[in-house]
Amino acid sequence: MSELVNFEKRGAIGVITVDNPPVNALSPGVPEGLVDCVAQGNTDPEVKAMVLRGAGRSFIAGADIKFLGQKKTEAGLTYRTIIDDSEKPIVAAIHGYALGGGLETAMACQYRVATKDAKVGLPEVLIGILPGGAGTQRLPRLIGPKAAMEMIVTGRHVPAPEAKGLGILDDLAADIDDLLDTAIAYAERIADVRPLPRIRDDDSKLAEAKEDPGMFDAMRKKIARRARNQNAPYHCIKCVEAAVELPFDEGVERERELFEELVNDDEAKSLRFAFFAERQANKIPDIDKSVKGRNIDTAAVVGAGTMGGGIAMCFADAGIPVKLLEMNQEALDKGLAKIRANYETSVKRGSLAADAVDTRMGLITPALEYDQIGDADIVIEAVFEEMPVKKDVFGKLDAVMKDGAILASNTSTLDIDEIASATKRPADVLGTHFFSPANVMKLLEIVRGSGTAKDVVATCTALSRRIAKVGAVCGNCDGFLANRSRAPFQTEMNILVEEGAKPQQIDKVMYDFGYPMGPFAVGDLAGLDIGHAVRQRRKKESPNEHRDLPIPDRLFEMGRYGQKTGAGWFKYEKGDRTPYPDPVVDEVIAEVGRELGLQQRDDFTEEEILHRLLFASVNEAAKILEEGIAYRASDVDVMWLNGFGFPRYRGGLMFWADGIGVKNIHAQMVEWQERYGDRWKPAKMIEELAASGKGFLDD
Ligand code: NAD
Repeated sequence: MSELVNFEKRGAIGVITVDNPPVNALSPGVPEGLVDCVAQGNTDPEVKAMVLRGAGRSFIAGADIKFLGQKKTEAGLTYRTIIDDSEKPIVAAIHGYALGGGLETAMACQYRVATKDAKVGLPEVLIGILPGGAGTQRLPRLIGPKAAMEMIVTGRHVPAPEAKGLGILDDLAADIDDLLDTAIAYAERIADVRPLPRIRDDDSKLAEAKEDPGMFDAMRKKIARRARNQNAPYHCIKCVEAAVELPFDEGVERERELFEELVNDDEAKSLRFAFFAERQANKIPDIDKSVKGRNIDTAAVVGAGTMGGGIAMCFADAGIPVKLLEMNQEALDKGLAKIRANYETSVKRGSLAADAVDTRMGLITPALEYDQIGDADIVIEAVFEEMPVKKDVFGKLDAVMKDGAILASNTSTLDIDEIASATKRPADVLGTHFFSPANVMKLLEIVRGSGTAKDVVATCTALSRRIAKVGAVCGNCDGFLANRSRAPFQTEMNILVEEGAKPQQIDKVMYDFGYPMGPFAVGDLAGLDIGHAVRQRRKKESPNEHRDLPIPDRLFEMGRYGQKTGAGWFKYEKGDRTPYPDPVVDEVIAEVGRELGLQQRDDFTEEEILHRLLFASVNEAAKILEEGIAYRASDVDVMWLNGFGFPRYRGGLMFWADGIGVKNIHAQMVEWQERYGDRWKPAKMIEELAASGKGFLDD
C-alpha cells in the first residue's frame, strides 16, 4: 500500500487520509493509494461508508504541476472512476483548499462536506490548461452549466458557504476540529441510501442550457477582451458545451482531447513558467530558511497621498492594524476620504461586503504626531519624492520607532542607502516599492540597501504574501529593477513618435500584443506632469546621460497632463476614459519633427514597433543582471508581469526574449546600432549569450 494514503476505521466508517505534504498534491503514489484504500473499504464487511480527507493544512490542493504534460499512470487515469463506482458511499471532507484535481476528486465522491473557511475551485485556466480530470463534465451536472462555466473560465476560488449555496457542498463544518466528526456523522446518516447519487448519471441540471442555448456565445463575447490571444478560456467553454451535448463518457473523452491540445502549447508553457518564476522570486541566494523574519503585527504609513492611502488599504485588507500619519488634518481627512471612497466603489461593484467597509476603516488609525506611530512593527514612508523630505522623515522615524522596527521607503527612484544614512540603523532600512494603484497592483519590489539586514529582507518577502502581493527582491540603483528596465521602452516610444509614428498606432500594437492598455494611454492615466517632473530631476542630476523628450515636454507645457485635464497624448470626453486620437498632437509631432530636422516616416511595421520597445528594455535588463542588481532573469519577468501588465501568457519580458532568441535580438541590435547610434549597443551579457547560443533563462 502507498505510504501517501492511509486507511483506518472509526466504527462503521472507513477514513481514508491523503498524507502527501505540503498540500497533498496528486503526485505519483497518491492515485494508487486511493485505489487501494477504496478497495479496502469496499471489501471490509464492517465498513458501511467512507470519508476521504487530507492530512495537514489542506484537502487535496490539486495536481502536481511538475508532472503536467507527462504520461499518467494506470491508477492516475482510473482512480476517479473507481471512487465514483464505489459500492459504498464516500464523503469528501474538505478543509483548506480543494482546487483543480482536488475538487475533481471530491466530485467523484458521492457527497462533500467542508469547513466554513475552505475554498474550492477549478483554476486550471490560470496556467493555460483546463480541468482534465472530468471536472468540466461533473461540475455542470452538479451546479448547472452556467455557474460551472463561470467558475471554470475565471478559475476563481469559491468560498465554502457560496459553494454550498451553489450545490457543490452538502454540509458545512464549523472548523477543522469539527470536520472529521461532521463528515463521519454525515457518512453514518447516508450509509444506507441507495441508489448512490453519482454526478455523472444525473443530467437534470443540464436542461438549463437547452432553454438558454446562447449562454456559450454570450460567455465568449464577455471574455473576448480579457482572453484575447488565448486558447484555454475558449477550450474551457467548449468542454462545458460538450458536457451539455454529449453523454458523460464521450464528454470526458472530448475534455481529454482539448486538454492535450493545450497542455504543451506556448500559452500553457508561458503560464507555467510565470507560476514557478513567482515562487522562485521569494528565494534569495544568500538568505536561507535559517534566517527568521521579524514579527509584523502592526504597521504605519507616512503620507496619505495616492500611494500612502493605497498602501494603508493593503494592510487593512490583510487584517493588519495600520496607523496613517500626515502633515496636517486637512491632508489626513482627504486621504481617509479617498480610502473610504475606494472601498465604497468596491461595494458598488460587488467585490466587497458592505459591512467590511467599517471593519477595514476601523483598522486604519489616523495620526498627526510621530510619537503616535513609534510602536509599529513596520513603517512605510510614502511622502513627496524629494531626497531632503525623505531624509527629514527618516530622521524623525529614527527618533521615535521602537527597536527592531523596519523602516521602509516607497520611493520610486531615490537612493535607499542615502535615505538610510539619515538614521542610526541602516540595517533596518529598505525599499518597499508598491505600484500604482497600490491596493490593486500585485507587485511589491523589495529593494535591498547595501546595509539592509537579511532578516529585514526575509520579513518583507513573507509580508508581501500576507498582504496579497507578489514580492521580488533587487538591489539599489536609480529606478531599481522594474522602472529602470522599463525606462528605455519609454524613451523608445517617444523616439518612435519623433520619427513619425502615431501614439494610437503604437498603443494598438502593444494592446494587440496583450497589454491591457497601450503605453501612451497609460501615460495619460498616470499624468504627463509626473513624467515631466522625473525628467527635470534627472536632467539636473545627470545632464550627460539625459535625453530630452521634446514632444511630451511640449504637451506638458500646453497643460495637457492626461486624463485629469481631459487631454494628453489623446483627448477625452467628459466622464469617458476612452482615448481619442487628437489632431493637435499630430501637429505637435510634425512641428517637433521639423524643428529637429527629421525626415518623419509613415511605414512603421507592427514588428518594428514591438521589437524596438521591448528589445530596448531587454538590453537594460541584461545590464541590470550583469551588475547583480537582479538575482535572476526570471525576477525581471515577475516584475513586468505584476507591475506593468505584461501579458502573462507570454511569460514575461525575458521569457519572451528567449522565445525570439538572444542571437536574433543581438543581430537586430547591431543593425540598429549602426543606424541609430549607441543607445542600441548590446549589453555584454547579450553579446556573450548570442555567441554561446544560450538564453537568459538557461542554466
Ligand atoms: P502624493 O503627492 O500623492 O502624496 C504624498 C503625501 O505625502 C501627501 O499627502 C503629503 O501631504 C504627504 N507628506 C509630504 N511630506 C510629509 C511629511 N513630512 N510627513 C507626512 N506626510 C507628508 O505622492 P504619491 O504619488 O503618493 O507618492 C509618494 C511616494 O511614492 C513618492 O516617493 C513616489 O515616488 C512613490 N511612488 C509613486 C507612485 C505613483 O504612481 N504615484 C508609484 C510608486 C511609488
